[in-house]
Amino acid sequence: MADSLAELDDMTLRVLALLDDTTVAEQRREAIRDFTTAQIDKARELISDGGLVPTNRAGIFRAVSSRGDESYLVAAEAGICACPAGLHERRCYHVLAARLVNVSTRRAA
Ligand SMILES: [Zn+2]
Repeated sequence: MADSLAELDDMTLRVLALLDDTTVAEQRREAIRDFTTAQIDKARELISDGGLVPTNRAGIFRAVSSRGDESYLVAAEAGICACPAGLHERRCYHVLAARLVNVSTRRAA
């Protein structure tokens, strides 16, 4: 990967950076679509409280329950969560939090 990146010229890199910024912004918008303001607040709180822990698998996180006594596996891209709401195929804020974190960390990968 490093080898092929080194072959790219400056112009290409600048274009890629622009595209990447647009993509990240779009992905953020996409990530929060279909979620309520209350869910967005809870997702932000979960992230800032350190309640969303990355696993060694890309895009898979462990979310700590609001009472802190349980944790659920969350697949960001697939939008799947193992919490009680997620198991009933409802959109939960764990998925939203995982998506938000996934979007902002993918740049670095
Ligand atoms: Zn959930």
